[in-house]
Amino acid sequence: RAAEFARLKDIPPVTADGERMTLLLNAGLALDVHHLDEVGAEGIGLFRTEFQFMVSETLPRLESQTMLYRDVLEAAGNRPVTFRTLDLGGDKVLPYVAAEREENPALGWRAVRIGLDRPALLRYQLRALINAAAGRRLRVMFPLVTTVAEFDAARALADRELEWGRAHGRKPPSLVEIGVMVEAPALAWSIPDLKGRADFLSIGTNDLMQYFFAADRGNARVSERYDILSAPALRFLKRIREDADAAGLQVSICGEAAGRPLEAIAFAALGFRRLSMPASGVGPVKRMILSLDAREAATAVARMMRYDMPTIRGELTEFAASRGY
Ligand code: PEP
Ligand code: MG
Repeated sequence: RAAEFARLKDIPPVTADGERMTLLLNAGLALDVHHLDEVGAEGIGLFRTEFQFMVSETLPRLESQTMLYRDVLEAAGNRPVTFRTLDLGGDKVLPYVAAEREENPALGWRAVRIGLDRPALLRYQLRALINAAAGRRLRVMFPLVTTVAEFDAARALADRELEWGRAHGRKPPSLVEIGVMVEAPALAWSIPDLKGRADFLSIGTNDLMQYFFAADRGNARVSERYDILSAPALRFLKRIREDADAAGLQVSICGEAAGRPLEAIAFAALGFRRLSMPASGVGPVKRMILSLDAREAATAVARMMRYDMPTIRGELTEFAASRGY
């Protein structure tokens, strides 16, 4: 299998019926970027910036943040990198960022909520990203945005930092794209209002499904009770894709599910064309895509999406097996 995946790495992921897909990597360390060549991904769809903060004993300084982001951009070459701003809180707590114990951390003070309440932290990170991307394309997205107003506020911080750089004679990025993760159901219902505000969307299915099913993603007892391959979840994702298309917003999926071939069949069937995943997923997903009849899969998945079934996993597995996917 490994040899087969290695052979596929330079072949573009086009389905058997001609749909061009884009496969991207999830990463969190400068080292991960080398997987781009190894597996043949077209860029980094999710760079989790909190890793640097989690392995550090003190708040990483502006220079060390800048250095990491510059290394990542350099290693990626002309392939796009989407940086996600700090996603702390929930289960990711730092000893040097004061936080109270919370009853429900996943529903608490986390991600962009911390960034908006402690803007110095987020502004510093944005400054580091802007510095690192001098003369290059900069793509940044915010985690767990719940309302359009929160997105506007986060974007305003980025604009302020860009202005600061200009005022200080810094070389700006050649292009700045500011996007948002769709992880909170409320934001998933706000996509028409993000038109003209956000530059792109990325669906974090790990969190989106946790909030959709009201089931802690880290608690197997409840998280394994519900399946993303079920009618309610797939209908929800389909609507997000349709709203994104209607708003002219590029949309990708960057949750772990995107790296599993069976789930990727369903996502392709719902019309998603950009998937970001762990390096280990790229070979298997690409192998599936190269033989996939996306139109047939769309019809088959639509037929399977019935509310009386807790999951379509069994049916979809049979369908995939019968087609040799
Ligand atoms: C997600 O929630 O799906 C996601 C990609 O972000 P993380 O797993 O880092 O929360
Ligand atoms: Mg998330």
